[in-house]
Amino acid sequence: MIRTTLDIIVVFYLFSFLAGVFLMWFVFERLRLQHGKKADKLRLRCRMCAHEFEDPSDAELPVCPSCGSLNERETPPQTF
Ligand SMILES: [Zn+2]
Repeated sequence: MIRTTLDIIVVFYLFSFLAGVFLMWFVFERLRLQHGKKADKLRLRCRMCAHEFEDPSDAELPVCPSCGSLNERETPPQTF
């Protein structure tokens, strides 16, 4: 049997709880960033009517669902 005191049990419980919270925060933050990047790639703003829409297709010139004009995909600015 392992001999321990109440202090060690409380400290172990607090550290394990905080480690779990930190791990969940880390995982959800990574998922949120990945989803945000993917959503930004799909989101377009029409240059004619400023309507924002999402186009999941691979078309080079997506058609605006509001006014029907063709729009170029904006390439995100590259950071070095
Ligand atoms: Zn439009």
